Amino acid sequence: MTEPGDVRRRAVAALEELAVLAELAGENPFKVRAYANAARAIARAPEDVEALAARGELTSLAGIGKGIAAILTALAGGEEPAPLAELRGRTPAGLAELAALPGLGPKRVRTLWQELGIASLGELEYACRENRLLALAGFGPVTQRHLLEAVEFRRRAASARHLPEGLRVGEEVAAAIRAALPGAAVSTAGEARRSCEVVSEAVVVCAGPSPAALASALGGTLGDAGIRGPDTLAGLHPSGLPVRIVTAPVASFGAALVWHTGSGRHVEQLAERAAAGGLRFAAGILADGSGNAVECAGEWDLYTRLHLPWIPPELREGAGEVEAAAAAALPDLIEEDDLLGAVHAHTTDSDGTASLDAMAAAAAALGWSFLGIADHSRAAAYAHGLDADRLRRQGDAIAAHNAAGRPPLLLRGTEADVLADGTLDRPEEVPLDFVVASVHSAFRQSPEAQTARLVKAVGHGRGTILGHPTGRLLLARDGYVVDLEAVLQAAAASGAAVEINAHPFRLDLDWRWVRRAVALGVPISIGPDAHEPAGLADVRWGIAVARKGWATAADVLNARPWPWWA
Ligand SMILES: [Zn+2]
Ligand SMILES: [Zn+2]
Repeated sequence: MTEPGDVRRRAVAALEELAVLAELAGENPFKVRAYANAARAIARAPEDVEALAARGELTSLAGIGKGIAAILTALAGGEEPAPLAELRGRTPAGLAELAALPGLGPKRVRTLWQELGIASLGELEYACRENRLLALAGFGPVTQRHLLEAVEFRRRAASARHLPEGLRVGEEVAAAIRAALPGAAVSTAGEARRSCEVVSEAVVVCAGPSPAALASALGGTLGDAGIRGPDTLAGLHPSGLPVRIVTAPVASFGAALVWHTGSGRHVEQLAERAAAGGLRFAAGILADGSGNAVECAGEWDLYTRLHLPWIPPELREGAGEVEAAAAAALPDLIEEDDLLGAVHAHTTDSDGTASLDAMAAAAAALGWSFLGIADHSRAAAYAHGLDADRLRRQGDAIAAHNAAGRPPLLLRGTEADVLADGTLDRPEEVPLDFVVASVHSAFRQSPEAQTARLVKAVGHGRGTILGHPTGRLLLARDGYVVDLEAVLQAAAASGAAVEINAHPFRLDLDWRWVRRAVALGVPISIGPDAHEPAGLADVRWGIAVARKGWATAADVLNARPWPWWA
């Protein structure tokens, strides 16, 4: 199942691996940087690697010399490039995994490896528990504790994926089934269909064939594929994500889809409702009092039999949605088309990769009527944050764009660092349309100090949007510890908004808290945090989270026409 872009993805991954391995092996820093730069060049190249390789034009890209072109050509031909094979042979396999831990880069991993012989997560954990890192220069007790936490986090996250990847795997498997069995009813289910922020298993429901017939129809699509029970085929997707395919009789497809989509609590509550009505809902089949299956070819049939309206998959968590459905009180969830624009986009003025004009054009292509520019503030020096002068000059460029009358309307903003004491890194003398207030430093304050810091930040009221409110990175690090209830209450009181950062690695505010924000009347901004034109489309993941948090269009700022704070 090769898709367009696959070679590019593999090429970027291989070059990134080369950069890490070369540094681990102690090679020349110029070589290390050349690999890293080439990875970025390929990620951004206007054309796919195969086409460029076929025409012998790889070296026309900046940062791609002959050596790297040879590596790419080997990859495009499905071969392992020689330098990669050589480096893989010289460095233990676990080192690259160690280098990906937060707080450890290749340089420090090399120290751990050479000084203490640590070459795997397990060895690192053991060494931390034995306090052996303390003997090394630059590794204190705090670092050691953070590394232990990171190892534990990594173990919990081992087989999970971000939502887009989980969804992609499920859709790929569903497409393979459709191709093998034309006309069969097939749907993704499970966590991905519920828009869970991370997906630990791709689930697909399919009407008709037995698992054995399905296995032979799919051939070698899944690794380790095996029949697990009368209706289940399970295996491993090439990406490493576990896949479960459940087959159901055509007449029970809808019931099975509900069963394998809902959380345990959701289906349990449906089963209770069925029992109260003299029916039995179990193992994906709805049966009457004498045990005969009741036809539920579609999900609507199942819910109708239980005297309920159809419940959107995102809500099926067993968190009050069955009661709300019974009372005809389900929310009218926001949809992708409801968004009129978004705020929180970066440009080359700070750490974005595209100009103001390119970002504006991308927003126009999405049909947006406004786009809020929010480059980093001065305190974010690592991201080339803007001081008052540069921010003012950006404001002039925005005014010039708007004066030309071409959509979208550009809004002047900044992503202001929330400093450790809660003040915003924002030059008061520069007029702005909005401020995204974000924490980018001092993550490890006490919960009391962190709460006071964010309460103070949202105290700026209307015009302020609390950016990625907990700072979490899904599958990489937890958010900072903060009393979100207190922060949301403060926002409700001041009129500040909170962001659902739509980057699929963040999805922060978490959907569980979105629901609380909505209940408190705190406006939600679905922010793409785009650092490139394509990043604007990430708002779809923010919409998924908003829906999962019971938000309607009325709860979301960027579903309203600008201005919001007139
Ligand atoms: Zn940020
Ligand atoms: Zn940002």
